[in-house]
Amino acid sequence: MDFKLKDETIAIRDLIKEFAVKKIEPIAARIDREDQFPVEIFREMGRLGMLGLTIPEEYGGAGLDYLTEGVAMEEISYYSGSFGLSYGAHNNLVADNISRNAGKEQKEKYLPGLVSGEKMGSLCLTEPGAGSDALGGMRTTYESKGDGYEINGSKTFITNAPLADVFLVYAKNGKSYSAFILERGDGVETPKKIRKFGMRGSPTGEVSFKNIRVGKERIIKGEGQAKSIIYNGLNAERAVLAFGPLGIARRALDEALNYSNQREQFGKKIGEFELIQEKLAYMFTRLEAARLLAYKAAFLAKEKVSDPSFAAASIMLASETATSITKDALQIFGGYGYSEEYPLERYLRDAILYEIGAGTTEVRKIVIAKALLKN
Ligand SMILES: Cc1cc2nc3c(=O)[nH]c(=O)nc-3n(C[C@H](O)[C@H](O)[C@H](O)COP(=O)(O)OP(=O)(O)OC[C@H]3O[C@@H](n4cnc5c(N)ncnc54)[C@H](O)[C@@H]3O)c2cc1C
Repeated sequence: MDFKLKDETIAIRDLIKEFAVKKIEPIAARIDREDQFPVEIFREMGRLGMLGLTIPEEYGGAGLDYLTEGVAMEEISYYSGSFGLSYGAHNNLVADNISRNAGKEQKEKYLPGLVSGEKMGSLCLTEPGAGSDALGGMRTTYESKGDGYEINGSKTFITNAPLADVFLVYAKNGKSYSAFILERGDGVETPKKIRKFGMRGSPTGEVSFKNIRVGKERIIKGEGQAKSIIYNGLNAERAVLAFGPLGIARRALDEALNYSNQREQFGKKIGEFELIQEKLAYMFTRLEAARLLAYKAAFLAKEKVSDPSFAAASIMLASETATSITKDALQIFGGYGYSEEYPLERYLRDAILYEIGAGTTEVRKIVIAKALLKN
């Protein structure tokens, strides 16, 4: 067993780290405070080859594996959890999804713009009445009209929607579920940006489709293929997104260690108190254990193994671990942790999203248990 990352993965991680230290770290607090996504920095990452890491080179990507994309996601999330979320949604939920499932002409049309950062992508599955039961509760419809399709309905909680150009949309016609690539220019509207507890700066919004007419070339894989697209992609999506909470948690631990070495009470550094040491020891151990599982799940996703339990377990453990580590880090900072002068409260607010977005902790438990019982 080799625990060393590949040279190319280390090179990408170092490149992203250098970029994030210069461009994201100085504005991370402002991104949260003003709830504004820095689009220019996102586009610059595209120009520098940091988007579309898993996209084949013929479409402008780097042709790398899910583990590399996960490591990149952890690095960005270390500096800004909300930038990391938008990065993951664009690259993994949209670009990689198109790369895995779309036809050659669709890939040629959409992937280069998504990889260069010229276009931003949104995955539209969740609806006001359809969250965990995304397919069963779906109300967005498509029907054949002339040479193509007409799409009607609305989506909510869609990451990047307020700024997106390309929308990967799931819709139903009776019992048939299909996936479409829509463009803002088709008449897609994003009427509302949703204000949130955390992940501020990652724009989340509603999306509405009113009599949107598109040609047959916009359907992915043909009619009735949405279920296979969703289920076949879940391992890759969960495996990569698990690295987001790991990045937030690693940052919180680093800040807690620094503070423990500086802050003095009762004439001692607080890091000398055993109750603080116990917290730090558990934070480190939980983080390292969650990362090992994340590496394994990303490796298995690369190998296209169909067992969903590792990817679901990985994101469940990573997100619960991040909630607990960011909360302990805030506690170590005492009153300063609770104040907005320090970033600890932001880390906790950002971390909690990963227990809800991309499927809740409860749904992940169900997926893991069902897979175990079936096997
Ligand atoms: C910031 C943010 C970004 C998001 N980005 C996207 C995106 O880009 N694209 C997209 O399509 N969606 C996105 N989502 C939506 C997200 O995937 C859903 O919020 C999530 O799947 C849960 O759906 P829900 O909010 O409707 O909760 P519900 O499904 O209504 O769940 C409510 C509660 O009931 C529990 N529950 C539900 N079913 C069961 C069950 N069978 N057993 C036990 N408990 C159950 C849930 O775990 C939860 O605790 C995002 C959400 C957020 C908050």
